Amino acid sequence: MPLTSSWVASANSADTDFPLNNLPYGVFSTPSLEARCGVAIGDMILDMEACEEQGIIDLTDEPLFDVPFWNELMEQGPAVWTALRNRLGDLLAEGTRDRALIEPHLVPMGEATLHLPLVVSEYTDFYAGRHHATNVGTMFRGAENALPSNWLHIPIGYNGRASSVVVSGTDIRRPWGQLKSPDHDTPAFLPSRRFDLELEMGAIVGMSSDGPITVDEADAAIFGYVLLNDWSARDIQAWEYQPLGPFQAKATATSISPWIVTKAALDPFRTSTPEREFELLDHLKDTGPMLYDIDLTVTLAPDGKPATTIAQTNFKEMYYSSAQQLAHHSTSGCPMNVGDLLGSGTISGPSKHARGSLLELSWGGKEPLTLDTGETRTFLEDGDTLTLAGHATGDGYRIGFGTCTGTLQPALKDPYAR
Ligand code: CA
Repeated sequence: MPLTSSWVASANSADTDFPLNNLPYGVFSTPSLEARCGVAIGDMILDMEACEEQGIIDLTDEPLFDVPFWNELMEQGPAVWTALRNRLGDLLAEGTRDRALIEPHLVPMGEATLHLPLVVSEYTDFYAGRHHATNVGTMFRGAENALPSNWLHIPIGYNGRASSVVVSGTDIRRPWGQLKSPDHDTPAFLPSRRFDLELEMGAIVGMSSDGPITVDEADAAIFGYVLLNDWSARDIQAWEYQPLGPFQAKATATSISPWIVTKAALDPFRTSTPEREFELLDHLKDTGPMLYDIDLTVTLAPDGKPATTIAQTNFKEMYYSSAQQLAHHSTSGCPMNVGDLLGSGTISGPSKHARGSLLELSWGGKEPLTLDTGETRTFLEDGDTLTLAGHATGDGYRIGFGTCTGTLQPALKDPYAR
């Protein structure tokens, strides 16, 4: 599928993240506009609240865009998702007769502050990248026991906290926690010394369910995808994770990119999961290509200095698709809600430069990375800015996610000071 031309000139550039083929959904404010839903097109944002008020977007009896989140649109279901995408495509296409109607409702992206695009109902994080799980398992348990026996049969996950999800650009505070080094007999309460990123994608559930759903139903229920950084305190994690999995190590913050890229925009980039050595049970079997070919990069910029690309990988490296994760999540009868966020798990590729966490890149801190500035890193230092970026590459255009960024602030001197 080629680039679809828009009368918004910046949307026709081969390297914009937001051509007409994309149309991702976000929430923005400006000094004169309160937070509201918007659609990215080139370097502009279309104000959905204004378009609805003016009757330009008129899909339902009740308004959808009088609130600063996309959950109400999601709740309408796939037929309305498609109707909105088609309407936006018509309004913004080259040659439309509606340009004069729309143009007053475009806001330069440079003037906007971006907010969380949805109310996150609940947040679950998976551990579904085979290279990541093998690397981490090798470090923690040795190469022989790297993958737990269940790993090749079910997507492993844990229930995280929706309250910890923040939008890109939010500063992250280095946490305190209970740590225990193997050389000490007793734990201590200290600022984390091994604070890390995890490069992930987040799938957003757009249809609720109340009982087990199939992989096909799960794929249909996914509304779109964002970039996701699951900030992780490795020293807290190492002490707390057995027997029930991560808890405070993952609770400081999870950053997501501000634009929800819809499943419809990503459709031309579908790809299959890798070959499996064990056949999955029927309810988790692949029924079609449900991963996506999305190039991903991570850069690290020390306080005010130029950034170094520390990792490059691709979403298609995952062992389980988000649809398989969602299907698995529902098997017990667990109700799934509109606005649920599913983290894919860290996306590492086979090569060393394709590892999606510093834990892997520095091999547990044993092999420091050298940045372009000449500094080295094992884990994150105060003032480091991490930026995730991703895009699928089409014929003369790309479907981009924008960026997911966060800067690490020093730990509080005394977290209990009042
Ligand atoms: Ca994770």
